[in-house]
Amino acid sequence: MIINIYYCCGFRKENKLKLAVNKLNGIQNYFFFILKQRESDLCSSRKINWLEFTQSNSLNQKNGEYNIFITEKAFDDNWFSHEESQYAIISTNGWEKHFAPPPLNVYLEYQIAQAAIQFELDLDEATEMRMIHPSPVGCMFDFCGDKEEIKLGMKTGAICQKCKGDLVGFGIKPEAIDSIERILELVRAEAIGKQIVLNKDDAFIVMRYSQNDENDNSYRYGIKTALEELGINAIRADSVINSGQLLETIKKGIERSRFVIVKVDSENLNVYFELGLAMGLGKDVLLISNRDFIFQLPSDLKNWECLTYTTGNYEELSKKVKQYYIDNYHYSL
Ligand SMILES: [Zn+2]
Repeated sequence: MIINIYYCCGFRKENKLKLAVNKLNGIQNYFFFILKQRESDLCSSRKINWLEFTQSNSLNQKNGEYNIFITEKAFDDNWFSHEESQYAIISTNGWEKHFAPPPLNVYLEYQIAQAAIQFELDLDEATEMRMIHPSPVGCMFDFCGDKEEIKLGMKTGAICQKCKGDLVGFGIKPEAIDSIERILELVRAEAIGKQIVLNKDDAFIVMRYSQNDENDNSYRYGIKTALEELGINAIRADSVINSGQLLETIKKGIERSRFVIVKVDSENLNVYFELGLAMGLGKDVLLISNRDFIFQLPSDLKNWECLTYTTGNYEELSKKVKQYYIDNYHYSL
């Protein structure tokens, strides 16, 4: 689902918003957020009247488009946000002055996630209001009558079992729930002060190699060139300035990168250890293997999608890597 995020009315916290959008795009794969600047109907008024906005804004009615407007202006009903099934307004008014920490970007991540799930459910605000908990239980669908209560939702960062059941009942796709839960996990960690560094366009490459062997060449002439053409940074442990132990460097590299590519081959336990680490951290992992090795993969990995190529054919490998990220992650050439 593609969601446009507009900021208008001279919104000054552009960097925080960019940071939030980068993290949102980096932590999950189902929603794709595009940040844009534009004037809107909000710009002309002093405070925002939601009802007026829903009736006046021509953008709202465009079919198949999902739009979120971010503004520093306050709502005249003192709410933080309002959402309909295709558009939403999030106000940052007073957050940094009265409520932070958590910092503004975390607040935005949480609010944007809330709008995204509502778009996915195709719910209007009235229907959503029937679903929410009247007093807070630490669920994303709590009613936050008191603005302080939203901080509880950010720290617990969860969808409760009852609401999850409701969502399934509404027919929401499992991938969408999974993506929202990934965002909530991020929000929860950040809301209690954990620094999450996540580089949206970084791919960490795990492989064992020596200079100019098949793995090294597949990296140089296949994987790295393909990623660079897409605007993804390829990082291999040898390209990281290594001040500590290698394992620590690799662990950090995996943690911080959005993507992990693992070149699997026979009998290298380190590679499988690092693969397990990446999977455990919920990274988007791509396995690559020479075609003749695929039959020897450990049984746990047999059903995992693995991109294969003919040994020595780096052009084939490069093409497949590019196609994979174009098809699955909104990259283009
Ligand atoms: Zn709930």
